Amino acid sequence: MAVSEFDLIRQYFAHATASRDDVVLGIGDDCALLRPVPGQTLAVSIDTLVEGRHFAAGADPQALGHKALAVNLSDLAATGASPAWATLALTLPAADTVWLEAFMQGFAALAGEHRVQLVGGDTTRGPLSITVQVHGFVDAADALRRDAGHSGDRLLVSGTLGDAALALSLASQGKPIDVTLRERLDRPQPRVALGRLLAGRVRAAIDISDGLAADLGHVCVASGVGARLELARLPLTPMVAALALTDDWKAPLSGGDDYELLFSVAPEDVDDLRRVCAVAGEAVTEIGRLVDKPGIELIHPDGHVSKESPDGFDHFRS
Ligand code: ADP
Ligand code: MG
Repeated sequence: MAVSEFDLIRQYFAHATASRDDVVLGIGDDCALLRPVPGQTLAVSIDTLVEGRHFAAGADPQALGHKALAVNLSDLAATGASPAWATLALTLPAADTVWLEAFMQGFAALAGEHRVQLVGGDTTRGPLSITVQVHGFVDAADALRRDAGHSGDRLLVSGTLGDAALALSLASQGKPIDVTLRERLDRPQPRVALGRLLAGRVRAAIDISDGLAADLGHVCVASGVGARLELARLPLTPMVAALALTDDWKAPLSGGDDYELLFSVAPEDVDDLRRVCAVAGEAVTEIGRLVDKPGIELIHPDGHVSKESPDGFDHFRS
């Protein structure tokens, strides 16, 4: 029995998420009609996940639904914005309703946590590809940007680094993976609350999607500074720390998919910032500082210094 595009829209998208007051008209017409918050700035971001590129064929659809939204919410977090609306462009090889049901479960559960309403999208046939666009709000003066770092700023990062990269590396070798490690790869938690807390309080910020070194490199270039990282201070879970003991820093430095926030703080504001984060239950760790000299210097635990070439993931290089 053939399912039409419109059956799919009605069944899986139209009522997937809870309604927001600022949605005048949601799914079902030519355009969604949305009411932006007066006086605030609209923050917009879009990301695509392509089968064979960002995830393996046969990947768990529920995890994909989560991740497709999570990577976008992470961009809003890195801007300090409050999420509001999402659109979803899906290209599917077939109208696989079991797949869609699970995908939308993952998507809707995360959308619900962040009060995001799915307000539109597009559904087409072709090789599996998932594009999500998100919209959020932030005071323009408080918005977090990559170009706002100053030499002398302290560098801080949320959570732990390298877990997703380690999970991916174990998976590609067919080795067993600890559940919590697997979750870090499959179901990243966008640091939306932390981003809102940081808005207006810190200088530069970015979310770590391509690896610490590459994303720090983006901050440095945009801000016209360099950075010095103290590797001994990187927040690592035990399995990643075990690799670091052998001076293997690949997972935390070059591994992508962590979706933690990296940000720079004026030295005089660090103590206050730490207090605010502690009260909010947000784990942040100081890992280095921004310096005048361009490039990234790594201070190893034994004191020797090396240069980091930002070799995070790049679709057109790798
Ligand atoms: P149009 O042809 O006018 O672009 P479509 O037939 O593509 O409209 O879509 C009909 C309605 O369903 C629109 O409101 C659109 O936003 C929505 N829609 C289609 N696909 C999706 C999807 N994957 N997720 C959410 N909404 C969708
Ligand atoms: Mg269309």
